[in-house]
Amino acid sequence: MTLTLPDLDAVARDRDEGPGHLVGLVGTGIGPSLTPALHEHEGDAQGMRYLYRRLDLDVLGLGAHDVGRVLDAARLTGFSGLNVTHPAKQTVLAHLDRIDPDAAALGAVNTVVLGPEGAVGHNTDRSGFARSFRRGLPGVAVDRVLLLGAGGAGAAVAHALGDVGVGELLVADADRSRADALAAAVRDTGRVRTAVVGTADVEAVLRGVDGLVHATPTGMAAHPGTPVAPDALHPGLWVADVVYRPLATALVTAARARGARVLDGGGMAVFQAVDAFRHFTGVEPDAGRMLGHFAALVAAGA
Ligand code: NAD
Repeated sequence: MTLTLPDLDAVARDRDEGPGHLVGLVGTGIGPSLTPALHEHEGDAQGMRYLYRRLDLDVLGLGAHDVGRVLDAARLTGFSGLNVTHPAKQTVLAHLDRIDPDAAALGAVNTVVLGPEGAVGHNTDRSGFARSFRRGLPGVAVDRVLLLGAGGAGAAVAHALGDVGVGELLVADADRSRADALAAAVRDTGRVRTAVVGTADVEAVLRGVDGLVHATPTGMAAHPGTPVAPDALHPGLWVADVVYRPLATALVTAARARGARVLDGGGMAVFQAVDAFRHFTGVEPDAGRMLGHFAALVAAGA
């Protein structure tokens, strides 16, 4: 019997399933994140070779200021891009070749595309909240909205509220200087009037606004409780929570019980991944399929 060498070009052609994608999530405390599963499941469904790695700064013995090293390593090893989370969403800015104006305006990047243009930063927390809001609370009044929490998520949400047409944004945070800085940054965009509200006045203010967006960690397992007294919630209000673990936070449950229209934090979590997937691959993901996968993961206790 004569052994012949396979036609290597033909083998390569047979195996050509389009470009594969290697992406990752950089940050700390990222073990429980559902983002890697959301991306890989969608990549599989699209027939792509898609691998999403966790790059935990604690495990790597690195700090927030070392994110540039991770970026360099990812670029050298062929990553298509990285998601970036706490504590590196701001420190990564110094290592980018270009920043999308929407991300630059809020001073934080959660998605870096590594491609021919170098490292390009985006913020899909902003676009993801806006898309979740339009989908989950269609037609609600947005003349006057109170944002509670002016940290990382709060900043993305504040700018997204400008994107969905909010007229006046009131900002409250336990750290008043954060509320001041965020209100000034949003006001500087020239699209939204802003004011700062003391946390002691939040419940009174809720009587005169269309909606409340909650962006503090209150309601997570480690920070139980509601960020406002449940009795301050009423049927004339819509309430959007960004906390999504659990989805039914004490605030979401209390708001529903008082007849308010409610948006939980799951939509923002999914749509930030939808938008990042598109940035990494250039392919439009199936948002409905990703929402369904997210719901299945949550139902399974992931
Ligand atoms: P952060 O630490 O950057 O900011 C939290 C802010 O809340 C701080 O400014 C703090 O001073 C303020 N704060 C805390 N307790 C307060 C209180 N009782 N009253 C008023 N202000 C208070 O945190 P972050 O990264 O902005 O995350 C906040 C929450 O958003 C977390 O639960 C996180 O899981 C969630 N999050 C959700 C998504 C999503 O996709 N749904 C995305 C990002 C963050």
